[in-house]
Amino acid sequence: MAEILKGKPVADAINAELTQKVAALKARGITPKLGIIRVGARPDDLFYEGGAKKTCAAIGMESEVFEYPEDIAQDALEKAVTAVGAKKDVNGILMFFPLPKHLDGRKIRELIPVEKDVDCLTTGGAAKVFTDDLTGFPPCTPTACMEMLRHYNVPLKGKKCTVVGRSLVVGKPVAMLLLREHATVTICHSRTENLPGVCRDGEILIAAVGKAKMIKGNFVKAGQIVIDVGINADPDNPGKYCGDVAFAEAEPIVAKISPVPAGVGSVTTSVLCKHTLMACELQNA
Ligand code: NAP
Repeated sequence: MAEILKGKPVADAINAELTQKVAALKARGITPKLGIIRVGARPDDLFYEGGAKKTCAAIGMESEVFEYPEDIAQDALEKAVTAVGAKKDVNGILMFFPLPKHLDGRKIRELIPVEKDVDCLTTGGAAKVFTDDLTGFPPCTPTACMEMLRHYNVPLKGKKCTVVGRSLVVGKPVAMLLLREHATVTICHSRTENLPGVCRDGEILIAAVGKAKMIKGNFVKAGQIVIDVGINADPDNPGKYCGDVAFAEAEPIVAKISPVPAGVGSVTTSVLCKHTLMACELQNA
């Protein structure tokens, strides 16, 4: 039986620390604030937005949603994002992507000021992450993976880590964060040969593929620690979601495994607030 690495205790610990830090800032007359920019009203965006607002309120931080219609024109959205970016009271910005097809998302995301880019949407933000500039913020999900590993006392120095997935949102930045902790990292993708063997070789396996239950029992080994980042519609349970790892196959084999739901996903809004608080501290240093 593997130890189940639940996200909630990790989120609770982060939130407790943030509550104290927010109180200390408030005593100096500063209230950190997250700005959320949303175009349209996709259910996934609304769900994440609700969670972010709830976490902000729980730790004493402010949040404000800047909502625009789905048919907003490019120049109007450019002006709006620039205006939100210039707001002195907004310390961190979350913006939902992808945007509707008529909009140039690449151009829009670059309008977020780098110092407020708490989810690594800009090229400047990514540059900071990839050059180990600690004033930059990685995307929230990779940071959530690292928070999970830290909370559950998983040593990383010198350890072999296999990351499946090379997206800019999860795979690449989590590999960079693991390298910062002196792990030896292998990044896999859709052209990797002998994927099961490469996955088994890792002492720590991070799955960020976006394919339901693709990491099967023959991809894991005894003693391994598995972090499942995937959020997929569960083909076996309509209306439910599942991870990239076939949990029922992997769990009896490995030492520790994060579940889906209730794993990494439960930590991301706490990380978003943590990044916003750090941004606020830097802006008020
Ligand atoms: P993505 O942009 O679609 O990237 C998927 C990566 O997996 C790509 O690098 C792709 O390789 C690789 N891949 C796809 N099929 C593969 C295969 N058969 N064998 C090996 N590698 C394969 O997805 P993403 O945005 O990184 O997200 C990954 C997962 O994390 C998704 O399930 C997503 O929903 C979830 N997610 C969760 C959170 C959270 O808060 N928990 C946040 C963000 C994302 P190529 O590069 O070769 O195409």
